[in-house]
Amino acid sequence: MLQKIIRDALTTLYRLQHTRLTSLLCIVCMLICFGVQAQPPKVAIIMDDMGYRTTDIAAFDLPTSVTFAILPHTPKSVEFAHSATEQGRIVMLHLPMETLNPHNLGPGALLTQMDASMIARTLDDALKSVPYAVGVNNHMGSKLTQLSLPMTNLMTALAERQLFFVDSRTTPLSKAHRIALAAGVPSLQRKVFLDHELTDEFIQAQFQRLVRLAHKYGQSIGIAHPHPLTVERLKSLIANTDGIEFVPITALFSSGQKALLANRNPLTPISTTSAP
Ligand SMILES: [Zn+2]
Repeated sequence: MLQKIIRDALTTLYRLQHTRLTSLLCIVCMLICFGVQAQPPKVAIIMDDMGYRTTDIAAFDLPTSVTFAILPHTPKSVEFAHSATEQGRIVMLHLPMETLNPHNLGPGALLTQMDASMIARTLDDALKSVPYAVGVNNHMGSKLTQLSLPMTNLMTALAERQLFFVDSRTTPLSKAHRIALAAGVPSLQRKVFLDHELTDEFIQAQFQRLVRLAHKYGQSIGIAHPHPLTVERLKSLIANTDGIEFVPITALFSSGQKALLANRNPLTPISTTSAP
């Protein structure tokens, strides 16, 4: 009799535990599934060409998820880099690079004939004028980004300085992203230019394309410029777009890439020592 009572009690306990365990597993599975489904696609927007014009300051009203890419040695480069970092915004160096057709690249450009030490020195000088920069993207560069040697030299310098790279892809023949990854530099590529035609319709259509790509691939990167029209449009487009998480560019890196960048604190000014 006692044995039966004990056996029944153990069976009941086992069933109870089993049921609880099953329920617990179901809850965990549901939470995981819900968590995965609830993860919205991510969009990062980079505001290029910051630093020249006083009107660029309007871009500071954009959400701090918008990353600033600041041109080196420009009248506002240091001031903008400080103010943006104080806002909690990610700052990048927008590094001019040689084009196929002659263009005014502005100061601090990387050119074809530069050797490794000259590229490193030009990079360091540019970084001094954009303090707090945690990554680099190319301004122009339709020629230089196609060339293996200068890109390898640049990416080696970026790897040594724990900086990431975003290929603006000013030419479909750019080798920059592939060479960056080969050099161990966390790297991403621009998907959509948002405002190379300055009309409401064009900016809106490009923004929708950016959103579609994010839904398709889970994340996408748009590049814009601080034209007053672009800034105004982006404010409302970002505010009125549901189902997308707008993030700083650094949020799009894989966990492994983030670990590589972890030693670089955006609030710590970069080293001012030049490479040999
Ligand atoms: Zn640019």
